[in-house]
Amino acid sequence: MSNQDTAYDHVKAQIKEATDLIHVEPIVQDMLQHPKRVIQVTFPVEMDDGTSKLFHGYRSQHLDALGPYKGGLRFHPEVDLDETKALSMWMSFKCALVQIPHGGGKGGVVCDPRELSDREVRRLSRAFMEAVQDVVGPNQDVMAPDVNTDPSIMGYMMDTYSKREANFVPGIITGKPPILGGSEGRSQATAQGAVYVIEYLLNDQEMKLDETTVAIQGFGNGGQIAARLLYDLGCKVIAVSDSKTALYDQNGLDIPKAQKAKEEGELASYGEADVLDQPDDLLYIKTDILIPAALEAAIHKENVTDVQAKMIVELANGPTTPEAEKILLERNQLVIPDILANSGGVIVSYLESVQNHMNYYWDEKEILQQLKDRILNGYKRVVDHAEQHKTSYRTAAMIAAIKRLNQAISARGWN
Ligand code: GLU
Repeated sequence: MSNQDTAYDHVKAQIKEATDLIHVEPIVQDMLQHPKRVIQVTFPVEMDDGTSKLFHGYRSQHLDALGPYKGGLRFHPEVDLDETKALSMWMSFKCALVQIPHGGGKGGVVCDPRELSDREVRRLSRAFMEAVQDVVGPNQDVMAPDVNTDPSIMGYMMDTYSKREANFVPGIITGKPPILGGSEGRSQATAQGAVYVIEYLLNDQEMKLDETTVAIQGFGNGGQIAARLLYDLGCKVIAVSDSKTALYDQNGLDIPKAQKAKEEGELASYGEADVLDQPDDLLYIKTDILIPAALEAAIHKENVTDVQAKMIVELANGPTTPEAEKILLERNQLVIPDILANSGGVIVSYLESVQNHMNYYWDEKEILQQLKDRILNGYKRVVDHAEQHKTSYRTAAMIAAIKRLNQAISARGWN
């Protein structure tokens, strides 16, 4: 693979690794490699200064053999078609691995939310929903938060769709504010799921939480909450970073203090800790666990040899390229794949849509218990498949997912 390879090339390479080990008919392989529908939209949004600007957005619907498409919507300047396709494919494998009845979807709008006011974000969110409203629905495609999108955006989008239907339709989207039918536990679900996985993993490795060091790249919804949960459990979180700053303290950072610094504007204002030269230098420090929680391809062919962590727990989608992963595995650095490690978000999204359908709501304790049970089952499936096929956790996770997708495809008679 060249340096120009994309997330779409990476997911295809991962599919191939798995289908080299199990029998999958060529037609099924084709379906796995190509999204069923991809839509590309443009829509004008009125800016605060009275001018209008045209925005570009995408929604990729990969495979709905197991149920309605499901997956987030990101707002980022680097969103493009290939990336959106790849992310929708990872969603199919994630849902299949943790056995929730959904297919893979993903969307994105090309924009830099830091340059938009709250009102502009609100209008943009409504306009994107209007642009895709004919191809989404509670039993068709259910969107959710992803990079730079949050519960308030989900609330505006739910409202726009509900107005169009002249009906309250909370199940159109998940990750909503609880006041509008959002689930308890959804905002911390992605990080909480990863923390459950880390607890099982450390147990298997006979390691203790309070003797484990952790470095986390990314201080958004996933990374920041994971840092806090691990800190509360007694782990030594020795480094955290956002896109501008990486903080490092070998004795462990005070995460509530780092959260306060971030909330007030800059991680750098934390003080006391060392600030690394470049935010990405965090990837190269000596630590037991490294959690990439930012964007795709953070660990790639050129920098992988500098990555020293014993274990990499992928909270982002696609943070390790296949070429880099090969090198990590050769050096016995364990990789816990994204489709398991970050599945907590979509698991609780599924629980949210179940609650919306039945119009009855569980408390946080019930949600976290269901999340724990479901992600533990996913973890066991990965470990079992890795033993059975003598392969990496990633390929094992892909095999478990592909077997389930294959069954649904056959049951529908698509093969
Ligand atoms: N964006 C999240 C993911 O990549 C959550 C998707 C969802 O909740 O549907 O898994």
